[in-house]
Amino acid sequence: MAAGGAEMDSTGIVRRVDDLGRIVIPKGLRSRLGLGPGSPLAFAVDGDRLVLLCERPACVFCGRADHLRPYGGKFICGPCAAGIASGEAAPAQQAATPGGC
Ligand SMILES: [Zn+2]
Repeated sequence: MAAGGAEMDSTGIVRRVDDLGRIVIPKGLRSRLGLGPGSPLAFAVDGDRLVLLCERPACVFCGRADHLRPYGGKFICGPCAAGIASGEAAPAQQAATPGGC
């Protein structure tokens, strides 16, 4: 495996898109990536390739991944929501948490 994880790991698995545009992610890949019902995936296009990215929701203001609530298609944590409601300045952005799904 390449250092840094920049190379793709092709599985050789081929699935067909159904009439409604859906595909099934093979169970082995779901298990490997920790995907379950409701796991968010983001779509990206790289040339002629479609890439699915594991997304971990985080607060748009501070980067926290806990105490989240959806707001306007994004996520905001409870402390930031409370801070905004009270008129406080936004907190410093936390470093993004690396890792897969
Ligand atoms: Zn926050």
